[in-house]
Amino acid sequence: MRLSRFFLPILRETPKEAEIVSHRLMLRAGMMRQEAAGIYAFLPLGFRVLQKICAIVREEQNRSGAIELLMPTIQSADLWRESGRYEAYGKEMLRIKDRHERDMLYGPTNEEMITEIFRSYVRSYKDLPLNLYHIQWKFRDEVRPRFGLMRGREFLMKDAYSFDLDQAGATHSYNKMFVAYLRTFARMGLKSIPMRAESGPIGGNLSHEFIILASTGESEVFCHKDYLDLPVPGADVNFDDVAGLQATVDAWTAQYAATSDMHDAAAFAKVPSDKQVSARGIEVGHIFYFGTKYSEPMKAVVSTGEGGDKPVHMGSYGIGPSRLVAAIIEASHDEAGIVWPEAVAPFKVAILNLKQGAADTDAACEQLYRALTAKGVEVLYHDIDERAGAKFATADLIGVPWQVMVGPRGLAEGKVEVKKRTDGSREMMTPAAALDLLAK
Ligand code: ATP
Ligand code: MG
Repeated sequence: MRLSRFFLPILRETPKEAEIVSHRLMLRAGMMRQEAAGIYAFLPLGFRVLQKICAIVREEQNRSGAIELLMPTIQSADLWRESGRYEAYGKEMLRIKDRHERDMLYGPTNEEMITEIFRSYVRSYKDLPLNLYHIQWKFRDEVRPRFGLMRGREFLMKDAYSFDLDQAGATHSYNKMFVAYLRTFARMGLKSIPMRAESGPIGGNLSHEFIILASTGESEVFCHKDYLDLPVPGADVNFDDVAGLQATVDAWTAQYAATSDMHDAAAFAKVPSDKQVSARGIEVGHIFYFGTKYSEPMKAVVSTGEGGDKPVHMGSYGIGPSRLVAAIIEASHDEAGIVWPEAVAPFKVAILNLKQGAADTDAACEQLYRALTAKGVEVLYHDIDERAGAKFATADLIGVPWQVMVGPRGLAEGKVEVKKRTDGSREMMTPAAALDLLAK
């Protein structure tokens, strides 16, 4: 992509309305724009990151055996009357009437709809287990939308729903999502910690919030330090290995970890004091086993193979991709701007032409740009006539992992300078060596 043909409305000033660093940086880097309270347009740079995040979420959901579909944003109130949640949900639900005066709503979540889909087609235990997910916009009329994408009213969610014959099956389905979540967040360069969460009337341990530590997080969290270095399962993890997955989940829940809602000060006090982490955190995912809460009232039943039917055991599993854009920035930035982990970066490489319009730098940039692009590398070529300092600032602000600086002095020696955004390290090398390094 040539910057001269891209749409990147960088702000030089720091916007006043933004209270936390991710919100400030996203506005300054031209990633998004507020259209109404808690409602944002993703501008091209932000949208590229959102898509990268969704791709990782999707890959890991698919790897674990979950199946993608797409449900609508607008739902019929009647479905929610069946589960009893239409009245119960309260003011967070955006209620709409259509032209025929029918009650509709903008979905804040999809348990009812997925249960309706399930009961319409699935009759037998032989069709279980089943896990269906989608990545779709949600609307929750939060009282205090704030911190930009962190707590929006309209936000993107990956929500998965599992169906099993019994609690043992549902536990395995839960463990699959647990492991998929560990992998998902690790691939985005995040250290996520599963923390016990309120599990509602069903009880048990089967509700975890996946939290990343950040000083601007909305929740107060407490955990054992060892979680920060626990190994995450590899891509070859066998999701059908019931005992193996349980062992992983056990290892990831063995030590203390809880948000303030579930905090038990006495239990936390037993953690050696040099291992106690008390910090703030951002919830990036939440997994939840809720048994037959929806399948019973909504009659989602299957034949058991032993005569008779029974309601299926369900779980739901959410991730917030739009919140993650902000959360990753909270976890990874410096004075100069965003520092994208390569896996979610909007571009991998920025080429900075330090003397736009000079025959030698223009030619070298063009050549490198074409060669990298041909190898499938996502490159942003800063080809606008600006001073070098402004180009450095823009590249640092938008956080592209690699910068290639092409200036007349280096070129005289046949070299360009390659800078790594994470640590600022720089190296002079030939354009061919840069191509090798960056196309790896
Ligand atoms: P929170 O406790 O932050 O209000 P929640 O518990 O209501 O979130 P869930 O219903 O568990 O959220 O939703 C699943 C995921 O969706 C969350 O883990 C989070 O990543 C994301 N999410 C929830 N609410 C918002 C929001 N208002 N803005 C952006 N992302 C959100
Ligand atoms: Mg939650």
